[in-house]
Amino acid sequence: MTNLYRGRYAPSPTGEMHLGNAWTALLAWLHARSHGGRFVLRMEDLDPDRSRPVYEAQLIHDLRWLGLDWDEGPDVGGGYGPYRQSERFSLYRQALDMLRQDGRLYACRCTRAQLSAGAPHPGEQGRPYSGACRTLGLPLDGRQALRVVVRPGVYGFEDEARGWFEQDVAAVVGDFAVQRADGVPAYQLAVVVDDAAMAVTHVVRGDDLLDSTPRQLFLYEALRLRAPRFLHLPLLVDPEGRRLSKRQRDLSIAALRSAGVPAERIIGYLAWKARLLEAWRPVAPQALVAAFSVARLPLAPVVVRETAAEFGAV
Ligand code: GLU
Repeated sequence: MTNLYRGRYAPSPTGEMHLGNAWTALLAWLHARSHGGRFVLRMEDLDPDRSRPVYEAQLIHDLRWLGLDWDEGPDVGGGYGPYRQSERFSLYRQALDMLRQDGRLYACRCTRAQLSAGAPHPGEQGRPYSGACRTLGLPLDGRQALRVVVRPGVYGFEDEARGWFEQDVAAVVGDFAVQRADGVPAYQLAVVVDDAAMAVTHVVRGDDLLDSTPRQLFLYEALRLRAPRFLHLPLLVDPEGRRLSKRQRDLSIAALRSAGVPAERIIGYLAWKARLLEAWRPVAPQALVAAFSVARLPLAPVVVRETAAEFGAV
């Protein structure tokens, strides 16, 4: 039987790769390889203001230096390309067209300030969009953001690590944006269109996206596409519980490398944090494939206390 597993890693080239990105990349890669599946690299460079080709080149360099590989991607090509979101806008337009023909799209002129003015506390997120523009019939001329009309009802899925997760998208988020006012498609739309068009069967990613998933499931249904399976990973955080980010520059892969830290020491660290190793020791990604198990992965955020010096930076 042919193995239909297709996994992917979908970074945004908006900064230097740090330990948190390497964590997601390694675990998505291990999940794919331990299933004997294919692995796709897709650049999520939708946002022209924040994405830079130089970061894409660095990401590719860092991933390869860490010992990861992929069967399809912007640098190696493949049958489901292009592998950069900036080159896939025509696909997003087709999806928007389908939503428009189904009468599910409307233009929204609410500004950020108006959206947060209606919140119980200034600037508060997390309440549903009021639907203020839904009945205005503003032209769909691409000069305003586009929202999709969300059907009431629960959208849920069985996360491979966390079990059942569901959300009433209409009640929690409301009609959400599928295209920004500057014409750039929204992440929620692009990720669904791409994972479906690239025939991705398994999405392994950080759990900061867990509560986006019901919105994506709604879009899969609205676009009559088949949804993949999902596994959400805990995030790496600093000792104060803040998500590791591009700010921790000394823990970027490039900084660790130029300080003399071997790639296998970084992989070993991540594997130890993922409970795939009993102790922190140098290891190559390939040596972890046989022992990889989702059941071992932690569910709570993973605290990174170690400093660059403890990695053996010289
Ligand atoms: N591009 C997203 C990020 O870098 C990941 C999207 C996804 O995996 O669905 O956070």
